Amino acid sequence: YINLIDDEYNKNLNFLKTKLDTIIGDSFDYENDAFNEFYLHILSKGESNFNKIIDNDYKKKYHVIPTYNYDLQVPIKEHLYNKKSEYQLISVLDTDKLGKVLVIDGDFQFSEKDEHIYHEMMAHVPINYFENNINKLIIGGGDGGIARESLKHNNIIKIDLVDIDKEVVEVSKKYFPKISSSYDNPKLELTIGDGMKFVESTNNKYDIISLDLTDYNQSDDLRNPSFYKKLKKIMTEKSLIVWNFTNIEEDSPFIDILSKIKNDFKYMECYNTTIQSFGGGTYTFCLLSDTIDIKNKKIDWNLYKSKNIESKYYSPKIHLSSFIFPKSIEDKLAKIH
Ligand code: SAM
Repeated sequence: YINLIDDEYNKNLNFLKTKLDTIIGDSFDYENDAFNEFYLHILSKGESNFNKIIDNDYKKKYHVIPTYNYDLQVPIKEHLYNKKSEYQLISVLDTDKLGKVLVIDGDFQFSEKDEHIYHEMMAHVPINYFENNINKLIIGGGDGGIARESLKHNNIIKIDLVDIDKEVVEVSKKYFPKISSSYDNPKLELTIGDGMKFVESTNNKYDIISLDLTDYNQSDDLRNPSFYKKLKKIMTEKSLIVWNFTNIEEDSPFIDILSKIKNDFKYMECYNTTIQSFGGGTYTFCLLSDTIDIKNKKIDWNLYKSKNIESKYYSPKIHLSSFIFPKSIEDKLAKIH
């Protein structure tokens, strides 16, 4: 009996930790008495109750997207996938209104319905500041959406994509084939690994570095201003960083982070887009450069048109208008320029 109890104890303990890690984080001490008491208590409820308590995620009828002012509830039609990888809890939900959506650690990543807006805006805006061949690095973005859009430009000669989690790539290939469609393109090279370590060890230089990262946990160090200094070492002379920043609002605390990063670069510009499925309805990207004067650089629109790129949201007019913010936010941004 002791062995049976031990087996049961360990089997369920690992399952419980997987679920709890996403809620309370890695820093929690599973060895302490309070945790053991809690664990024994739910074990004593028997297997079906144990699963009911722990597996609540699979029963959720709504996915909640918090905004600054209220919560959005997306009704879930079906839970297609819900598994903790080595790094994060990855969920794929099927919904009526937004199609399939990807959620990581409870945080909404994209929906089939409007992923094109995010991916087109994050890829085409920076690329159009370049007339020559481009060597690009994508950190994060394992779903493949930024790579797909970037590879529509024939002057992209190579993309290195570094994502920490091979499960995101696999899940995207299985559930989001339209987003991950570029993985068989020979110009795209996938590395599974931590973006920080890649940046510290590579000898390559890049014209565009795209930071398409999650907002929490294993991406925290890559949102720190010191990381941006490290990026400079792997940038070509005329280069740009594009960063998925936040959904900026008047009272956004993130504006303070911008002022810290801005000190290290000569030019910084934010641009905005409308994405209904993201909390707040808008999303802001940031461009950083030491050599490209983003605001004043004339874009060769004839070159862009000659590429015959298919897009649903991005256009030269949208590009130019995306740098215009509501007055109150414009005033805030102006203070850090
Ligand atoms: N579109 C998304 C959004 O709205 O935030 C982000 C897309 S993408 C799914 C985010 C990716 O960042 C994930 O696949 C995750 O594995 C990756 N990631 C997080 N931390 C990382 C790190 N330290 N190095 C490399 N990739 C990382």
